[in-house]
Amino acid sequence: MPGTWYVTSFYKFLPVTEETLPSLCDFLRHEGDVLELCGLILLAPEGVNGTVAGQGKTISMFKKLLVDEFGELEFKDSTCDVRPFKRYKVDVRDEIVAIGDPTLHPRVKENDHLPVAEWNTILEQEDAVLLDTRNTYETALGKFKNAIDPQLSHFSEFPAFVQKCTIPKDKKILMYCTGGIRCEKAALEMRRQGYQHVYQLDGGILKYLEESPYRAFEGECFVFDHRVAVNQELEPSSRYKLCPHCGDPGDKHVACLECGTEAVICATCEVDVPRRTCSLNCQYHTRRKALNATSELQTTYE
Ligand SMILES: [Zn+2]
Ligand SMILES: [Zn+2]
Repeated sequence: MPGTWYVTSFYKFLPVTEETLPSLCDFLRHEGDVLELCGLILLAPEGVNGTVAGQGKTISMFKKLLVDEFGELEFKDSTCDVRPFKRYKVDVRDEIVAIGDPTLHPRVKENDHLPVAEWNTILEQEDAVLLDTRNTYETALGKFKNAIDPQLSHFSEFPAFVQKCTIPKDKKILMYCTGGIRCEKAALEMRRQGYQHVYQLDGGILKYLEESPYRAFEGECFVFDHRVAVNQELEPSSRYKLCPHCGDPGDKHVACLECGTEAVICATCEVDVPRRTCSLNCQYHTRRKALNATSELQTTYE
């Protein structure tokens, strides 16, 4: 269906009692269904985290409802022409962002959140360590110039990274992620491990690109929906697609070895020849043919 989709991301750490979780979950499910939204909202005893999309005025209506329920929220907005999520889902979890330790609870917003303008000033004038708290399949698409990439495959590996990293404890740390939520916990973890000057980019890369595109952030920003990534103008990526073999973002164009269809795969899979195909199915057939060819060769020599 043509028409613009309005996408918004939000999160808030606030105590939600175990008893109210199921009814809150039902309520958000129902309201989202009525407004014909798509997206994912996570609820946990520590708060709420979500990205949802809708058409026309539905998103502003839903935002109003969220603010009535959770109080003031910061929304990161963008638009796209195609429906960015297949379904609309509301789930109850242990954590709204999984670092693997439900005891790390950011409660109040402290003065360690840097607005975009202040972030740029510090980047230009001070000697600070820039730290990306996202996973490698995300940093591969774009990151802040000179930022440290902790090479995570999952956010729960972050505490171990801090333990073995060699960043001096008295250094000023500037950390960032997609929308800010991972840094809320990453900052607590760093302080727990003795770092004294930890700051995070308020609203993350999404807020940064809204206010300061084509500046210190280079490349595109991975997002967890059908858009795969957004560019400097927060438009859906025209470069990256999800690799049909491993699910990571890729930008390598191939003609499928099996059926000839044009496909986009990732750089890692491109090395494995049977994965130069358009789907798991075509990969399977290519592998089988290769195997048959080898066994025929072997029988010839026997
Ligand atoms: Zn791949
Ligand atoms: Zn194919």
